[in-house]
Amino acid sequence: MNLNRRLFTAAAVASTLALGSSAALAQAYPAKPISLVVPFAAGGPTDIVARTLAATMTKSLGQSVVVENKTGAGGTIAAGFVMKAPADGYTFLIHHNGMATAPALYRKLAYNPVTDFEHVGNVVDVPMTMLGRKDMPAATMADLVNYVKANADKINLANAGLGAVSHLCGTLFQQALGVNVTTIPFQGTGPALNALLGGQVDLLCDQTTNTVPHIKAGTVKLYGVTTKQRIKALPDAPTMSEGGVKDFEVIVWHGVYAPKGTPAPVIQKVGDALREALKDPAFIQRMAELGGEIPPAARQTSDGQRAWLVSEVDKWGKAIRAAGQFAD
Ligand code: ASP
Repeated sequence: MNLNRRLFTAAAVASTLALGSSAALAQAYPAKPISLVVPFAAGGPTDIVARTLAATMTKSLGQSVVVENKTGAGGTIAAGFVMKAPADGYTFLIHHNGMATAPALYRKLAYNPVTDFEHVGNVVDVPMTMLGRKDMPAATMADLVNYVKANADKINLANAGLGAVSHLCGTLFQQALGVNVTTIPFQGTGPALNALLGGQVDLLCDQTTNTVPHIKAGTVKLYGVTTKQRIKALPDAPTMSEGGVKDFEVIVWHGVYAPKGTPAPVIQKVGDALREALKDPAFIQRMAELGGEIPPAARQTSDGQRAWLVSEVDKWGKAIRAAGQFAD
């Protein structure tokens, strides 16, 4: 056998083995429970999306998808943890826009959100709501604007740390009003909302996934939703723009990631389970009740999520750099 022929044969054997092993891997996987890491505290909006998704995917994967909360540093601790986890298909991350804002917010970020992960697909898009404690003196968004401007040194605003969407929304709000208020960081907006309910903080901007039940129960004051149009889950709620805070838009999207190098058949199988969940009527209805919408099919795929993240890193990076005050 000449050298070329021998090389060709060796390459053919290797690729057959690789094909065989990836088919075998896809069949055997998952052989044990899968961990889905949430970057914020239990009971908050990201946690609610994660737990609903995990329960739905557990059915189609035939193995438990177990939610693990790893809080801190606005979600960057969890993302760094998953980046370094074994790429064996048993650790995934669910995160929101914080994946796209972190590179502009943190000078020493331990990971590149686009290239240091495998991308599974987007999950759900969720509006935010600007809330006040129940006994806030301001009744409407217009009142709130006047009240905050007149009392900026007395007001405090809760968030889930630098990199959290509550921080982003709160900062955009302060910028729009030209004020600086005291911000109080929590490990997630689950605990931040509890502090708002208890009257320990004045304001919080948070996803509807967490806030709709409290708004409906009347235990918080709702000032506006952060979408351009009113939303079905809260049809009477004015948009921030209607309330006088013009061109204000924050929509929170969520994506699922795995450590770089996680085998392609695993990403495919988990991605298929994710896309199946996004067609599950119970999942769709639960998300809709909480103001969430299923993202377009293109963003539900690995390539679609990667492309979307690239555009979001660019969009928020520009906004954050223009605002200057965000960098840490
Ligand atoms: N809504 C939070 C944020 O501000 C995170 C959370 O607790 O899910 O990013």
